Amino acid sequence: MREIDFSKFSSIKIGPKVEVREIDEIGEIPNDLFLIGGSNNLLISPNPPPLAILSKKFDYIVEDEDSVRVGAATSSGKVLSYAKKYNLRGFELLQKLPGTIGGIVKMNAGLKEFCISDNLMNVLVNNTRIAKKDINFCYRKSSIEGAIFEAVFAKKEGFDYALLEIFKNMRNNQPKLPSAGSCFKNPLNDFAGRLLEVTGFKGKRIGNMAFSDVHANFLINLGGGIYKEAVTLIDEAKRAVFERFGIKLELEIEIV
Ligand SMILES: Cc1cc2nc3c(=O)[nH]c(=O)nc-3n(C[C@H](O)[C@H](O)[C@H](O)COP(=O)(O)OP(=O)(O)OC[C@H]3O[C@@H](n4cnc5c(N)ncnc54)[C@H](O)[C@@H]3O)c2cc1C
Repeated sequence: MREIDFSKFSSIKIGPKVEVREIDEIGEIPNDLFLIGGSNNLLISPNPPPLAILSKKFDYIVEDEDSVRVGAATSSGKVLSYAKKYNLRGFELLQKLPGTIGGIVKMNAGLKEFCISDNLMNVLVNNTRIAKKDINFCYRKSSIEGAIFEAVFAKKEGFDYALLEIFKNMRNNQPKLPSAGSCFKNPLNDFAGRLLEVTGFKGKRIGNMAFSDVHANFLINLGGGIYKEAVTLIDEAKRAVFERFGIKLELEIEIV
């Protein structure tokens, strides 16, 4: 077991201090355990279900002839640094995309039309190696069920600094305060940020939580923000957008 204080560990800086089961062996993990990665996309409630996290054993990067094997507990920052150092392409989007490779693959995280699955070959889920073609990847979602222990990427030479610069610029309008990234998914042919702005939620604050006045779709913690304030803002925003536009906003962050 490992004690984690989610008010420090999670990117949005909310949550209780709880005992989390460390997973040390490859295999199926019990159904009642919720597996976390780096908690960059999560809002942990005061009474979460039992939680699990992969141990350091799954924090590694190994180069083979045509592929790069990455343990699911490896941080995006570590993979990006490795790719720069060893001149590998396809990892540029990890620039300021916080998380572990397990969480990033599960969420098919990315920016605009770029996503982690672009360069993926296969994934080790529970005890089974699954080829990319057998996984359904779409916008911030994958069909992967179970624990990801390893992701294998195609090995290509030539880290692309121009692409890195493009990703850096895409981040210019993001707030610096603690958040869990985009709060809602963009609905088809529209932007959650635009809908929140039009309904008056840009900068809207309850207690110490607010929708950022830099980018309305970022729910930010102004310092000491709590779970109840966060979910109240989420519920109010959903209701207002539905009443005005008839659009049901879908959460991108996950409430646990
Ligand atoms: C400032 C900021 C900017 C962000 N920008 C972006 C962005 O541009 N694009 C984007 O897509 N996201 C963005 N995010 C969200 C976040 O980076 C991604 O969702 C990332 O995938 C989270 O990874 P994690 O390891 O923290 O996963 P967690 O948040 O811990 O978990 C996310 C999900 O993955 C599952 N999971 C975690 N590990 C595993 C595993 N080993 N096996 C199976 N399932 C697992 C969890 O059960 C959960 O369902 C941003 C977040 C922040 C804080």
